[in-house]
Amino acid sequence: MSKTLICTTCGTQYPPDQQVPELCTICNDDRQYIGDNGQKWTSMAVLKNNYSTRISKLNDQISALKMQPDFALANRALLVQSPEGNILWDCMPLPDQQTVDYINSIGGLKAIAFSHPHYYSTMNEWATLFNCPIYIHELDGEWIMYPTPSVKLWSGDSLPLWNGIKIVHTGGHFPGSCMLWMPSLTGEGTLLCGDSVYLSRSKRHLSVMYSYPNQILLPRRDFTAFDHKTSALKFDTLYGAFDNQDLEGNAMDVFNTSMQRYRDSYEL
Ligand SMILES: [Zn+2]
Ligand SMILES: [Zn+2]
Repeated sequence: MSKTLICTTCGTQYPPDQQVPELCTICNDDRQYIGDNGQKWTSMAVLKNNYSTRISKLNDQISALKMQPDFALANRALLVQSPEGNILWDCMPLPDQQTVDYINSIGGLKAIAFSHPHYYSTMNEWATLFNCPIYIHELDGEWIMYPTPSVKLWSGDSLPLWNGIKIVHTGGHFPGSCMLWMPSLTGEGTLLCGDSVYLSRSKRHLSVMYSYPNQILLPRRDFTAFDHKTSALKFDTLYGAFDNQDLEGNAMDVFNTSMQRYRDSYEL
């Protein structure tokens, strides 16, 4: 996989020995953007020489993996430890040796699962290193730039994994947007939300948008579908895709208040 190019704005890796598009397909979509200096590409070798990965524990079961310094979208991938197999929720571009060794020391990965296409990044590198499948909702199949046999498309409202953990389809930001639900260490449940909802700086509001960087609202019908899909979720803790998007204990209250704001705004 060494002859592959990686978009510097979103971190998406394109297939080896193949012409990359003039503009990255993920970035050229209305939900993303081309960098100010135009389309730029890099490689895994350059990333390995210039970046490292920070591993930080969020609680006994979840660790955040994030590139240092920031690269591309600067999101974190969340590593979930569970007795029947560990899960990587979303990816970030650099599986450096320290990170690979750490994950192997706690039992490797049984699956990689995704919230949506903005974090597919170098998913095939991760899947090859850990010899595990990649679960993506079929409604986002068209956004897979580098399809391989590791990618398993799934359909429907939810995909049960193990130890009570399940991937829940929500739609909204992307047609196939998902969250990972897991039994909580403390009570109702923990939600890893990716960009399916986005925790504000105040930690008192969760937004759901067509585009976060371009601030494009969801059409009313898409919000209604999202609202319906998420109405049965029960959780008390939520972790988003970025540093500090940790909401422990009162996440359900914040979610309910936020969704009511949307219903009022859309006059639903
Ligand atoms: Zn891109
Ligand atoms: Zn996104």
